[in-house]
Amino acid sequence: MGHYCRICGRHRPNEKFSGKGYNIHVCKECMRLPKDKRQFIEEREEIEGFLSQSNILTRSHYALESLCFTIMDDYSQYQGGE
Ligand SMILES: [Zn+2]
Repeated sequence: MGHYCRICGRHRPNEKFSGKGYNIHVCKECMRLPKDKRQFIEEREEIEGFLSQSNILTRSHYALESLCFTIMDDYSQYQGGE
């Protein structure tokens, strides 16, 4: 059957999950990611889940989306050191 990993978004066989990973839906591979990177993906996922579950107006959706892109832009600029 396998399990769904919410970080990489794949269905993976049981042996790819540890005991803790089952509960939080994160496979062993993604567990090894640096904490800040995993957190970044998780937060993005939370926002997406929030958007798909709620009845937010499309306009607000785009506002929030552009905010995400701004954050990601800042993030990559910071990484690039320019
Ligand atoms: Zn994964």
